Amino acid sequence: MEFRDLKKQYQVLKTDIDQAMLDVAASGAFIMGNPVRELEQELAEYVGVKHCLSCANGTDALTLALKALGVGKGDAVFVPDFTFFSSAEVVSLEGATPVFVDVDPRTFNIDPKSLEDAIRSVHDHMTLRPKAVIAVDLFGLPANFPEIRTIAKREGMFVIEDGAQGFGGSIRLPNAEGDGFQLHRACSFGDISTTSFFPAKPLGCYGDGGAVFTDNDEWASLIESYRVHGKGSFKYDNVRIGLNSRLDTLQAAILRVKFKAFREQELTAVNKAAEYYTQLLNGMTKFIKKEIQITTPYIPENYGSSWAQYTIQLSVPSGNGSFNRAALQAKLKAKGIPTMVYYPTPMSKQTAFKEVHSFALTPVAERLSNSVLALPMHPYISREEIRSVAENLINVL
Ligand SMILES: *Cc1c(COP(=O)(O)O)cnc(C)c1O
Repeated sequence: MEFRDLKKQYQVLKTDIDQAMLDVAASGAFIMGNPVRELEQELAEYVGVKHCLSCANGTDALTLALKALGVGKGDAVFVPDFTFFSSAEVVSLEGATPVFVDVDPRTFNIDPKSLEDAIRSVHDHMTLRPKAVIAVDLFGLPANFPEIRTIAKREGMFVIEDGAQGFGGSIRLPNAEGDGFQLHRACSFGDISTTSFFPAKPLGCYGDGGAVFTDNDEWASLIESYRVHGKGSFKYDNVRIGLNSRLDTLQAAILRVKFKAFREQELTAVNKAAEYYTQLLNGMTKFIKKEIQITTPYIPENYGSSWAQYTIQLSVPSGNGSFNRAALQAKLKAKGIPTMVYYPTPMSKQTAFKEVHSFALTPVAERLSNSVLALPMHPYISREEIRSVAENLINVL
């Protein structure tokens, strides 16, 4: 069994993907060929924002967002303590200071209450300006943007949505008329939002890729410049220091095929898979030792996930709380079931950030890093495979 079965996906989409790759080879337009603009238009339309600018990877997408917003030295940027390294790495790379914020124990996303505490702590310290928050859509679930946006507005801060894992997620928000709801998609919640097309993300290509989304014309044109060496009116007029960060035509062409499958079948398929996991696991917990508790993922009302990961929590509520996760993983592996730990170390405990001042405690992130376990998950996983994972997990426990 594969953790994320990209080979199976290729078998299903092979005819179209092969043709798309051959077409690019024949066109000779390997950089900024037509598929790049076509993909950007399709993504912008799906997400519901004015501009989509593709780039080389999800980390660069965040860097481009920070550059467009003018984030730099002396700025505090609030980042959840439980995320992939990139979310905070880019802040330090721009010379700003990441401030790690604790997360919600049920959604794993940045906790608005902890965000407010961290902002207050930065104000009290009087060395940094609260400038932006990077809220991450962890494991496919959008962060609590209604509350985050309210806090950011009050503080005069920018909101960046790190949707690297969130593409395809959604929140239903009350409509303008106040008589119903409207579906808003991930990558539309930030002043600037980003995503990644790393192969294992919900929408992945066959290498590295990323994109930036915004409704703002000025930031869009800045990002357009920053991604090609800070170009001005033409390629050899350089008006600012930028990056070389474009999406290859080949990747764009592959993504167009995969995006069609994503919209037409894959997003529905992963949601069905998640539902089946949850139903089985919740039904089987009565067969395991009382002191071990399995918590299945929580999706708040009106939220939709794109299930970048299906992550359970394993905890021992009484006693000393320790649980031998590595031993469990080894036993499952022996039965042919791969599992992963995203993430074993909170950002604030990473060696690279040991010099970063701590403005807030993050006990939830600490606890999650010791208790989470991600199970095999992708659009092509079968019901038999899900059943086998669930049964083996329960048996080992
Ligand atoms: C993968 C990921 C990134 C970085 O994307 P790359 O394309 O690998 O550079 C950033 N943030 C989060 C939350 C991610 O999961």
